[in-house]
Amino acid sequence: MYKLTNILNAINNILLPRVCFGCNAHLSRGEEHLCTVCRNDLPLTEYNFNAENPIDRIFFGRIDVKKASSFLYFRENSIVQRLIHHLKYRNQPQIGKFLGDWYGQVLQEDNSLVETIDYVIPVPLHRTKLRQRGYNQVSQFAERLAHYLRADTIENLLKKTANTKTQTKKGRIGRSQGNEALYILENTTLLEHKNVLLVDDVITTGATMEICAETLLQIPGISVYVTSMAVVPLA
Ligand SMILES: [Zn+2]
Repeated sequence: MYKLTNILNAINNILLPRVCFGCNAHLSRGEEHLCTVCRNDLPLTEYNFNAENPIDRIFFGRIDVKKASSFLYFRENSIVQRLIHHLKYRNQPQIGKFLGDWYGQVLQEDNSLVETIDYVIPVPLHRTKLRQRGYNQVSQFAERLAHYLRADTIENLLKKTANTKTQTKKGRIGRSQGNEALYILENTTLLEHKNVLLVDDVITTGATMEICAETLLQIPGISVYVTSMAVVPLA
């Protein structure tokens, strides 16, 4: 079911000239989403899943994730911020595919996760948010990573039960709103003794990843890896 805004956005996309999400320059033939200059300016972390990196350290002592990484650095007023803004708020889900194809190839060359990961799971949206946005902005990214890692994507197994932001300010993260868990598992048998890659758009404090990973880690024998499109660099 399409909302009117989605339809208008789709029409705009056809009528308006194709411009770079980073700098608004007109795109040349062969350029998709970003002009060549912005593409070359994207700050790749070059963290991989072999060596220890700062993303691993975000989770040290908090949650038992096997390995963590991220594709890009996220800074205010940057190309990455504009890309993710369009992905989330301007009805441009194909940006997730674009980033997933790129990062997927990086991971494939890195080779440490190929044939290791069984399932890729995007961090879920609450159904109300999903209805408003029309898509989970991490879905296409997750699907493309799964393709390159020769894994499958699973949605709808991890579910968000409350339409709230993950609390980070009140002491420890809010694991529950009242007595209800923020995330629940619909079914666990499929993931028993599997290697799962949990993916999100931006890692800031790591609170969302932590609470999702904690939920998944209730499953016997599961190993959880985490990654994201971008990470806010640690100060
Ligand atoms: Zn540009």
